[in-house]
Order: sequence, then C-alpha cells, then structure tokens
Amino acid sequence: MADVDLIKSRLTSHPDFPKKGIVFLDIFPILREPLVFETLITHLAQHITSHTLGISQTKKIDVIVALDARGFLLGPIVALRLGAAFVPVRKAGKLPGQCISASYEKEYGTDSFEMQADAIKPGQNVVVIDDLLATGNLVPHEKLTATDSSKGGSAHAAGELVAKQGGKTLEYIFIIELLFLKGSSKLDAPVYSVIQTD
Ligand code: 5GP
Repeated sequence: MADVDLIKSRLTSHPDFPKKGIVFLDIFPILREPLVFETLITHLAQHITSHTLGISQTKKIDVIVALDARGFLLGPIVALRLGAAFVPVRKAGKLPGQCISASYEKEYGTDSFEMQADAIKPGQNVVVIDDLLATGNLVPHEKLTATDSSKGGSAHAAGELVAKQGGKTLEYIFIIELLFLKGSSKLDAPVYSVIQTD
C-alpha cells in the first residue's frame, strides 16, 4: 500500500541507542513532514473505522488510550478524528487524583503505569495506541526471545488498566511491531501494526 510505504520510508534506525546493542527505530522523521504525519493519522483512523469496528453499524470507539510518551503524539489526534475520549497512561506518580496502577517488565525488575480511576466507564469500547510493540524488556532486541518476558510490556499493562475499569479493549494499535518478540501473544485483544519488522 502506497501510504504504508510512505510512512515506512521515513523510519530511521539508530544502532546502539539508547545504549549498546539496541537498534532504536525513530518515528520522529514521520512527524517532521506534515503530509507523512497526516497520512499516518488518516491510516490509523481509517483502520479503526473500517476494521476494528468491523461491520457493526452501531458500535463505536468510546476511548483511545495512549501510552507515555510517544503514544501521546498519536492518541489525542486519532481520538479527535473519531469523536472519542482520550485517556493517558503515565508512569507512576505523574497523574493527579485517584489512580489505578499496573506493573510492567523493564530491563531489570518492574515499573508501574497509572490511569486516573474515573477515566473509563464499564462497558466502554477502547483502542490502545503506542508507537512500538516490543516485549517488555529494553535489552538488545536480538538477544531477546519470546519467552523472556513473562509478565508483558507496557501495552500489556495498559490493557490491564482498561480491564480493571471494566473497559473492553477492541484492539492494540502500533506504528511498528517487532514481530519476532511475539509481544502480541501476551495481549488480550488483536494487534494491528502499520509496519512489521523481524
Ligand atoms: P515494550 O514495553 O513493548 O517492551 O516496549 C515498547 C515501549 O518501548 C514503547 O512505549 C516504545 O515507545 C518504547 N520502545 C522500545 N524500543 C523502541 C524503539 O526501537 N523505537 C521506539 N520508537 N520506541 C521504542
């Protein structure tokens, strides 16, 4: 598809960032070009209306949940396009008021994500968005296997927060999915990624 090719062509990879052994995929060149950024947002919004919602004429997405920090660059814009609410998931201690939390695996040990406790109503349809799906361990990607992360990464924790509030995650959406890490197998709903890498 021409729009996917255009988006993919702007991705850059950075060996040994943020540390040795990690090849970091940078999405910011996409955002630098309004036409390419627009193509990405339109692609995501069209995917949700034509695939995520299926043939249902009555179902709608109530909430777009996006992850701190790069998910915040996509989530609110897609939410506005769909007429949905935007709800952020942030690292612990960053959100005011009563929050619920879920832990996720990091390189060494775990960390926590939070969501404001009144952000999602029971029964609401939710889509979770982030820039990239890996697996929960920011270690050199080539050294990881799909079994390394038993708990799951950040998207898994976001899904847990949605479920705790009684929301229904219909899909997890990413710009990039590192297929070989099989991160999607840990999630409780289908995954859609614009670009897949091995
Ligand atoms: P996971 O929790 O699935 O292991 O890792 C995904 C999270 O780490 C995402 O929030 C993403 O922003 C970040 N991440 C890990 N590696 C990369 C990368 O190579 N490129 C980008 N853009 N984000 C990454």
